[in-house]
Amino acid sequence: MLQDFRAEVRQWLEANCPASMRTPTMEEEEVWGGRKEQFKNPESKVWLERMAAKGWTAPEWPKAYGGGGLKPQEALILKEEMQRLGCRPPLLSFGIWMLGPVLLQYGTEEQKKKHLPEIVQGKVRWCQGYSEPAAGSDLASLQTRAELVGDQFIINGSKVWTSYADSSDWIFCLVRTDPNAGKQQGISFMLIDMNQPGVKAEPIRLISGASPFCEVFFSDAKTSKDNLIGPLNGGWQIAKALLTHERQAISEINKKASELPLEIQAKHKLPTRNGQLADEHFRQRLAAWHMDNTAFEWTLEREMSLQKAGHSPGAASSMFKLYGTELNKRKYELMMEVSGFQSLIWEGAGDEKDRQATRDWLRSKGNSIEGGTSEIQLNVIAKRVLGLP
Ligand SMILES: Cc1cc2nc3c(=O)[nH]c(=O)nc-3n(C[C@H](O)[C@H](O)[C@H](O)COP(=O)(O)OP(=O)(O)OC[C@H]3O[C@@H](n4cnc5c(N)ncnc54)[C@H](O)[C@@H]3O)c2cc1C
Repeated sequence: MLQDFRAEVRQWLEANCPASMRTPTMEEEEVWGGRKEQFKNPESKVWLERMAAKGWTAPEWPKAYGGGGLKPQEALILKEEMQRLGCRPPLLSFGIWMLGPVLLQYGTEEQKKKHLPEIVQGKVRWCQGYSEPAAGSDLASLQTRAELVGDQFIINGSKVWTSYADSSDWIFCLVRTDPNAGKQQGISFMLIDMNQPGVKAEPIRLISGASPFCEVFFSDAKTSKDNLIGPLNGGWQIAKALLTHERQAISEINKKASELPLEIQAKHKLPTRNGQLADEHFRQRLAAWHMDNTAFEWTLEREMSLQKAGHSPGAASSMFKLYGTELNKRKYELMMEVSGFQSLIWEGAGDEKDRQATRDWLRSKGNSIEGGTSEIQLNVIAKRVLGLP
């Protein structure tokens, strides 16, 4: 039965994945969806539409909300077959990685019906409004206020480090709805349309020239009370649930389906002897990374199976985030060595793959900060996983 499904998926992918979508994704051709998506490569639009029509951008979400309705083993087969063919992910999405799972758990039927299909189809792009200038690791200190006036919340305050806010359509946001309650008790989780006069997203320009982050300012911004997720003042629990999904997504970030294995890349570029990499020291470090990575992948697979059986990862997602981001950093350190002096080239001539690897190497440093820093993950593991005082 599963073999039939595998054959079906393989056939469908062969017939429907456009040729250029079977090559590694260049950063500028990534598809994040939403109203402002430009589709630099027209085949990426075709690929997204075909995958979304099958619900395979969110393979395991229920069909009722536009998902693929696949069982865990089927979703794994789809992932393996996409990997085999070198398919690009059709859609990168905070909606799929973070908001969707939380809506499935805490949203009302109306909220699920309104938002989930648009996420699956990549019609609406979401960003995450958690951090504030004085609330990063200590997230519960957040001060952005939301007051209920009639049927609407009026929001005032600001968020910072909001990835891609200027390209996003909606923001899922933590706001303070009761300033007199204890830190965690007065927080609510709500959805806000960014296309309104009271919301301004200002890009923060980095030293690299890129602006992946923004500051977001709310000045009497409005959102309907229907956009409150979960109970009023009960947002902290939802915030934490979303962070477990975010941390899990970040921990898997080193698994790029369309990327050639590190060993093959190394063999293309470095001297070999008898089919082996000639540099014994490098070979050993590469082998050690591969072993750690394989062990981590298997651990993640096991965790996924537990989750499908109803087990919640809870604080354990901090272990995956910590380990996955450290592995990711080690991987890009090795890739920099493979590329040698080519990895110093930032733009202009040279191999685009090397330039991408350099950007990925720099980006991997941020992995251990976003979604909570490594130090914070260590605190969570100490307290909540190991039960230390
Ligand atoms: C690539 C990237 C993308 C991001 N995207 C988003 C986004 O889309 N939305 C969003 O809301 N935020 C986003 N962030 C922000 C991120 O969540 C925060 O940067 C992070 O939570 C840390 O907060 P901070 O920057 O205020 O650092 P701080 O909290 O000020 O921490 C500074 C240093 O002190 C350490 N520290 C703080 N408290 C403790 C403690 N109790 N024990 C031990 N060490 C401690 C930290 O580990 C860190 O090294 C992003 C960050 C990055 C790097």
